Amino acid sequence: MNKGLIFDIRRFTVHDGPGIRTTVFFKGCPLNCWWCHNPESHSCHPEESLKTLNLDGKKFSLKEMIGQWMSVDAVMNELRMDRIFYSESSGGVTFSGGEPLMQPEFLLELLKECKANSLHSTIDTSGYADQEIIEKIHPYVDLFLYDLKLMDDTDHIRYTGVSNKTILENLIYLISEGKQVVIRIPVIPGITDTAQNIREIKEFLSNPMKERISASQLKISLLPYHSIAKNKYTRFHIDYKTKNLKDLTKESLIPLKKEFEAEGFLVKIGS
Ligand code: SF4
Repeated sequence: MNKGLIFDIRRFTVHDGPGIRTTVFFKGCPLNCWWCHNPESHSCHPEESLKTLNLDGKKFSLKEMIGQWMSVDAVMNELRMDRIFYSESSGGVTFSGGEPLMQPEFLLELLKECKANSLHSTIDTSGYADQEIIEKIHPYVDLFLYDLKLMDDTDHIRYTGVSNKTILENLIYLISEGKQVVIRIPVIPGITDTAQNIREIKEFLSNPMKERISASQLKISLLPYHSIAKNKYTRFHIDYKTKNLKDLTKESLIPLKKEFEAEGFLVKIGS
């Protein structure tokens, strides 16, 4: 039976799609974004890590395994437990990571099971995958949360480790297929929020996209930078390249929201 590497399953999430959801975090990501909140997701292998606990003033170290191989049945058993909450809140299941498209066969089996069980499915993705994979899985996906980071390819390679070519092509393809897509723009000070990058994102969304979809159907989420994952970088001995950036408040993104709204897009701040 097909198994997938999962590093977390979180219940009652409210930021990973509509309603109350259960989010399944896939381990492994082909990108290496400087600001990533889940650095423990990057490797495609289970990893042992030391966790420090503080009990009554005494510190204890605990070995913890990050990532476990799970069968489709095991994941589905977890997902079915909360179906009453999904139906009452118009919620469902979100596959996130890491990058869920990196384990396409396992993901496809899960998506088919979700369809068979009438569970709304969302994929939170960087969009970095062969188009063949996207073609296979999209009929079973109700909603894509799709990251759009940097339009300049050299910058994209510098800050994420990969080219944006495939990502942009796949986004156009999904929109052309009439899929529900929310475009998520991580607003990283001095990196993704430069005047040039914002202008190029608007141009991209206005030109290739508007031939396929009206601006008012295109939803955008602006995600303010925050350094919540700082401790994870220390724990996993990974260099946190954006550690000196200041966190952004939601209020600070209002001008940017208005800028996108002026183009006719539906915009919200936060996920
Ligand atoms: S694509 Fe997402 S999970 Fe992968 S490195 Fe970037 S922020 Fe992290």
